[in-house]
Amino acid sequence: MLKGRKAIVTGSTSGIGLGIARALAAEGVSVMLNGFGDAGAIETLRADLAKEFGVEVAYNAADLSKAVECEALVADAEARLGGLDILVNNAGIQHVSPVEDFPADRWDAVIAINMSSVFHTTRKALPGMKARGWGRIINVASVHGLVGSANKSAYVAAKHGVIGLTKVVALENAETAITCNAICPGWVLTPLVQAQIDTRAKNEGISVAEAGRALLLEKQPSARFTSVEQLGALAVFLAGEAAANITGTALPVDGGWLAR
Ligand code: NAD
Repeated sequence: MLKGRKAIVTGSTSGIGLGIARALAAEGVSVMLNGFGDAGAIETLRADLAKEFGVEVAYNAADLSKAVECEALVADAEARLGGLDILVNNAGIQHVSPVEDFPADRWDAVIAINMSSVFHTTRKALPGMKARGWGRIINVASVHGLVGSANKSAYVAAKHGVIGLTKVVALENAETAITCNAICPGWVLTPLVQAQIDTRAKNEGISVAEAGRALLLEKQPSARFTSVEQLGALAVFLAGEAAANITGTALPVDGGWLAR
């Protein structure tokens, strides 16, 4: 059913976004990649994905901290892929610090990239989805959209905001064939989390392996990381026909984090 659909996955040069882009491409979806990184490495990634799955794969370097670049990303995907059916808002950054030490510019950057970009891309994508009569908006939020953790004020605020926006977009389009849902991962071992493990190992004078296990045990009862492949499979499910009446939800994939 997804074959021939067209998708944007923001922040797909790495981690969860790349896992979702791969999973969609494997279903025959044309994909617009986005995110930062070495230009040569991104081109190799783009060409390899296109070859492996026989779909069109494009790349746009939009900096999602800027509204105009979010909007241009959607316009570019519509022009180059010939439409936009699936919008995956995944790009995100983290900054860890107590509120009183939290730099104001880091607050602004986290809110812009993790939350406001979701509004800007969604606003631009909806008219085309409505005109074509079908759409899927999948926001990669976090368990931190449903519960707080110390030292992550901007991230927790932004992710709660994304879940609120998800509900409103779902309601505004409830009678159409457009759905909007949020995926809420707990710990996934990506560069974003590896940086937190490395900092912990350094601060506590323990090995990186010990720091990884300590980080998991604190919050995620399964003591296992979720994989990007598991999140890719969930995005494919949400994009498919079986999920046509699932909208406005925030789906935890958290090894029991929220069960405690
Ligand atoms: P990651 O650091 O591996 O990837 C982040 C991606 O976003 C990269 O492609 C990066 O280039 C891109 N990006 C960053 N700033 C950008 C900007 N200004 N404009 C465009 N692209 C930008 O991180 P990840 O762990 O894969 O995180 C992806 C999403 O999943 C984020 O929204 C994150 O909050 C969320 N998340 C991650 C975890 C986890 O445990 N890793 C858990 C819950 C939620």
